[in-house]
Amino acid sequence: MEKNEIFDYMAANGHEKVLCFQNEDVGLRAVLAIHSTVLGPAAGGCRMWTYADDLAAMEDALRLSKGMTYKYAAAGINLGGGKIVVIGDPKRREGREMLFRALGRFIDSLGGEYLTGEDVGTTLQDMDYMRVETRNVITLPESAGGAGPIGPATAFGVLQAMRACVEEGFGSPSLRGKRVVVQGLGAVGEPMVQYLTGEGAVVLVSDLDQAKVEAMVGTYGATAIAPSDVTAADVDVYCPCALGATINDESLSVLKASVVCGSANNQLAEPRHGDELHRRGVLYAPDYIANAGGTVYDTDRLWGGVNKERGMAKVAKIYERMHEIFMISKADGIGTYLAADRLAEGRINAYRAIKRVHGFDQGQRVTI
Ligand code: NAD
Repeated sequence: MEKNEIFDYMAANGHEKVLCFQNEDVGLRAVLAIHSTVLGPAAGGCRMWTYADDLAAMEDALRLSKGMTYKYAAAGINLGGGKIVVIGDPKRREGREMLFRALGRFIDSLGGEYLTGEDVGTTLQDMDYMRVETRNVITLPESAGGAGPIGPATAFGVLQAMRACVEEGFGSPSLRGKRVVVQGLGAVGEPMVQYLTGEGAVVLVSDLDQAKVEAMVGTYGATAIAPSDVTAADVDVYCPCALGATINDESLSVLKASVVCGSANNQLAEPRHGDELHRRGVLYAPDYIANAGGTVYDTDRLWGGVNKERGMAKVAKIYERMHEIFMISKADGIGTYLAADRLAEGRINAYRAIKRVHGFDQGQRVTI
């Protein structure tokens, strides 16, 4: 995006607004992009990063906010998409409390149009600071009335997507005896290994951190595999739970798995890699469908307070959603990554239509 292309970019992608916040006293510079409030208040995390320039920060906020709209829409959640980026060193310690309290005040001034949460470079402590100034913070520790860690819910959602993929490919959702390689053993990968072991899968594990690998081998009897061998592993399912862009020209030249399903964001290096998976008949669970469990679980408290059972029941619906995506993919002859976008856009457009006809506001209002 060039300097003079901001409005064209927003128009082409359907963004509603962009707001810039600054407070010199506490060193705050932040950009909030609100992509859509059709389904409900815009929600999405607060990222802190050292951007090359202000335009790069705005571009990141715009791109990420659109992703949130699609994620909530496809997940059946009545929230729109937004994202705040704070320009600065994520490791900054000095004056951190006042920086996030100032940001909390800005968010509060929006009257609930945007709800924030944790993202790259911010912590639950930062959320706690913002919460002093505004109620409009979703991700909070259990001690502060939030749902607590979301990694296990994300892993549970990935498991549901995987069951649907395996059913589509092999005729049964059972993972018993299926060979699955889990790449990345962090907040999502570790509970993923636990779930897969419980389902009777044969689990291979990989991480750059050898201690994490050894823990999984020792606790669950998983088999260790070198990071460089993951995408070429002789498995049924490749489960990326580390970095993005691992579906690329190089990995596709060696990939043996017939299912790709994991939590990593932006798994396709380019859209054409999604088309290539489709052409080869590899079943791909679109990342923002498979990894929605954490945010589905986290935001569930907006509709009646924390209720873990209800939250996890919502996450389990990822299984049906994945089947819906396969139906669209087959009917329209498109890759699943495009089918997911169609599902999300269909829901937003349908709601826009009933709003136009009946003048409804944002469905069931959230309470925070
Ligand atoms: P994490 O930082 O807790 O864990 C990532 C792990 O991947 C680390 O142990 C790291 O050492 C390992 N890793 C990095 N590069 C690797 C490589 N080349 N090979 C093998 N291992 C490697 O992160 P997380 O919270 O578990 O998230 C994992 C992915 O899922 C990320 O892409 C994240 O954006 C996405 N995601 C996470 C959540 C969540 O609930 N935490 C929700 C949605 C999406």
